Amino acid sequence: MGIKYSSKINKIRSFALGLIFAGFIVMYGGIFFKSNVIVMTIFMILGLLFIIASTVVYFWIGMLSTKTIQVICPSCDKPTKMLGRVDMCMYCREPLTLDPELEGKEFDEKYNRKKLEKKS
Ligand SMILES: [Zn+2]
Repeated sequence: MGIKYSSKINKIRSFALGLIFAGFIVMYGGIFFKSNVIVMTIFMILGLLFIIASTVVYFWIGMLSTKTIQVICPSCDKPTKMLGRVDMCMYCREPLTLDPELEGKEFDEKYNRKKLEKKS
């Protein structure tokens, strides 16, 4: 295996976590501008926006979770959740697909991206 893929929901979750950290770092940065109330306020608001954004992303994860399909992984026999046409097992990273056309093909996240592009 070359590039490591992680399941989509996990990826979004780490993105949301990153936003929280970014928010706190920006807010913390505001402390260095104590002398300038306007600059400090801007930092605080920016940090708050990051945290709000992460809440939105977490909410989105919740919405996505209801759309996942539970499947039994053929490789490790554990129940895993998949999202979209191709995703991977949460436990053993086995690529999974619901589309028989893609079965046996090399795992490629492009298949999902194409679908997303059509949507927007
Ligand atoms: Zn598995």
